[in-house]
Amino acid sequence: MQPAVPKNNSRWTRRVLLGFAFVAPLLALYLSRTNLVLGLTPLFSSHLLLLYATLVPNCQWWGPVIRSFHTTQPEVWITIDDGPSPAHTAKILDLLERFNARATFFVVGTRAEEYPHLITEILSRGHEIANHTYTHPSGMFWAAGPARIAAEIDLCAELLRSSPDRPARLFRAPAGLRNLFVHPELVRRGLALIGWTVRGLDTVRREPVLVAEKILRGAKAGAIILLHEGHRVAKDPGFNLRCLELTLSGLTERGYQCVIPQPEQLRTHDA
Ligand SMILES: [Zn+2]
Repeated sequence: MQPAVPKNNSRWTRRVLLGFAFVAPLLALYLSRTNLVLGLTPLFSSHLLLLYATLVPNCQWWGPVIRSFHTTQPEVWITIDDGPSPAHTAKILDLLERFNARATFFVVGTRAEEYPHLITEILSRGHEIANHTYTHPSGMFWAAGPARIAAEIDLCAELLRSSPDRPARLFRAPAGLRNLFVHPELVRRGLALIGWTVRGLDTVRREPVLVAEKILRGAKAGAIILLHEGHRVAKDPGFNLRCLELTLSGLTERGYQCVIPQPEQLRTHDA
């Protein structure tokens, strides 16, 4: 199944950004002949724009990022990153079943390799798996070159291909950070880059109630919700589960159904 990656203006924004980055040093040389500060301005601006495009999650300057899905129903899409986790995945599946919810698991390749039975379990219980790189290099993925990016995508995809009837069609970058090399690699493989509409910052916050409250404040029809698993397993093994349970409970109270959208429903603008 090919994902429908919605067209937006990213191609032109990307060209302008790269064009400016190319011209900025020449402009700087020319301007600095009369005024050094004035000469540094285009260089500084160019670097600032490149950093913004790379380090701000969901920024679409390098290419389209899916931030919501089209629906006329009170539906949201739960996405769970960083698994599978022997401490959490099975319990998450039970929680989802209790609330009659479906979700997409953005899994890390090395963890899928270590716990293949959990991948099978996720799929057999009606959920979806998606590519979240092979090693989850969150500290450097934004600075990686094309070869490393391709390897991270392909090694994870190879593991997830164990279910040929349900190939992973979606990709999420570690921490949502990606550079100018990521989008061309995704396009070549027919993968859509998935961002989010709302996240509870469950990797940072310590109170599950606050995590769920933030998500519920941002929940609306067509919203993509970002949660995690496999974190704080030693110090607070129930943390990720409580975040999900409170979120599911709040969504149910508000009348939302948790669904997995079809490719043609994916949108690059907010819900
Ligand atoms: Zn992650």
